[in-house]
Amino acid sequence: MSRFFSSRYAALVPYVPGEQPQDRRYIKLNTNESPYPPSPRAIAYASEAAKGLQLYSDPECRKLTDAAARCFGVDREEIIFGNGSDEILNFAFMAFCDETHPAVFPDITYGFYSVFGALNRVPCREIPLMPDFTVRPEDYYDAKGTVFIANPNAPTGIALTRQQIRTILDANPDNVVVIDEAYVDFGGESCGELLPEYSNLLVVGTFSKSRNLAGGRLGFAIGNRELIRDLNTIKYSTNPYNVNSMTMAAGIGALEDTEYFEKCCKEIILTREKTAQALKAMGFTVLDSSANFLFAAHPDYSGLWLYQQLKQRGILIRHFETPRLKDYNRITIGSPEQMDALLTALRERMEEKP
Ligand SMILES: *Cc1c(COP(=O)(O)O)cnc(C)c1O
Repeated sequence: MSRFFSSRYAALVPYVPGEQPQDRRYIKLNTNESPYPPSPRAIAYASEAAKGLQLYSDPECRKLTDAAARCFGVDREEIIFGNGSDEILNFAFMAFCDETHPAVFPDITYGFYSVFGALNRVPCREIPLMPDFTVRPEDYYDAKGTVFIANPNAPTGIALTRQQIRTILDANPDNVVVIDEAYVDFGGESCGELLPEYSNLLVVGTFSKSRNLAGGRLGFAIGNRELIRDLNTIKYSTNPYNVNSMTMAAGIGALEDTEYFEKCCKEIILTREKTAQALKAMGFTVLDSSANFLFAAHPDYSGLWLYQQLKQRGILIRHFETPRLKDYNRITIGSPEQMDALLTALRERMEEKP
């Protein structure tokens, strides 16, 4: 820390992204990226947009907003885009939390929520998951703050039903409820269809996972137009050109190519189910996942050891060395070939050290 660093941030502990090592080529199953390239249409549109990079991008993201409004069946005033959904989530912390409206979220969830809370200096109330790693909806009734729920949750992959979320919304008419649907396309139930009924609901989505555009940095929120207006106030006070022209174009291509989108999601779900079966047959405990990753533990091998053995063999998975998570690892669903490599490496190491 330099002697100039603001005292406001002196105690800030930043988010730690999954490793992106450059020392060798790894099979990357650690950051929930798609193993498949973006839609050819997304690539073509982005290349075309590159020719106009001398101009600022459209701060209103009009073409992309129109495409998304059609795709999600909402009005354009009900959508905002951001530089990844991380930016949108930060906007939501800035817009809807303060000293009297703490952020309320599960103790085990997306690690960025507590960082955004600290960055914006708003109190956070963390609610423990159940022993089986599920979110108990009743714990969020009368939350007395702004609720943030990743659904499906990370790193567990476990999803609440739309009906369960509905009970949280009903119990919190005076609190904003943010549902982070980063993984919803892999088997969760989207709350998008609840939007006409609930002015306190904000649904956050991303193009990073199911639309194969993690490097493009594109996320969004859908909600009541007053909530979206508040988020725009924050956006125009920080960075009006938050989405670049190439990414906007790629986003339109990804939305238009529904066939490719559905094919990729289906393939990942199929691979996930096969991988879960194989891991269970090897003695792993595997949580029920509705996401593009599995959260798995083995009774005879520590999470850290498994992680290290795989890393030595060029396969990266995500390990969290915290008391409740350290037995587990989060394994992104890659291509069938990548998962075969993972299972083979695990079998070999476990046979060598029974
Ligand atoms: C990946 C992820 C995000 C962030 O995605 P962006 O790449 O910033 O769009 C948000 N929430 C959860 C739960 C995630 O796993």
